[in-house]
Amino acid sequence: MPSDCIFCKIVAGEIPCSLIMEDEAGMAFLDINPVRPGHALLVPKKHYERLTDMPGEEAGALLAALPRLATAVVKGTGADGFNVFQTNGACAGQVVPHVHFHVIPRKNNDGAGFRWKAGAYGGGEMDDVLARIKAGME
Ligand code: AMP
Ligand code: ZN
Repeated sequence: MPSDCIFCKIVAGEIPCSLIMEDEAGMAFLDINPVRPGHALLVPKKHYERLTDMPGEEAGALLAALPRLATAVVKGTGADGFNVFQTNGACAGQVVPHVHFHVIPRKNNDGAGFRWKAGAYGGGEMDDVLARIKAGME
């Protein structure tokens, strides 16, 4: 565990959090700067910087809590829906380098917004990228 990791410190009880739940694999607590009230974070107890650093079974064990957590967030805030958001690397908006899933309760027309600029493929590009990604699955 890196000694300066804020989420490791929360897991270790060295700094406080507004805890929602915890199990063997992870903890969920309120994000201190919420997009919407009730915005929660689900983090693994073990330090991993990126989701791709986690063994699949550990990611699975962490995510087992996600439906129950999201249900509680939605019920507790009277939300109409929710976003699950996860960042890996500064280029993707990751500020805290310890895996975390954002669970953000949403209301119809809440103004929080969530749309990125969609692109389009050039000729042959979609087949090329598909082939390269599939090669990485082997
Ligand atoms: P990301 O940009 O995906 O790395 O998100 C990191 C999130 O961690 C941000 O939404 C912060 O508001 C949140 N955060 C940072 N420090 C704390 C803390 N001590 N307790 C709860 N949430 C935190
Ligand atoms: Zn950590």
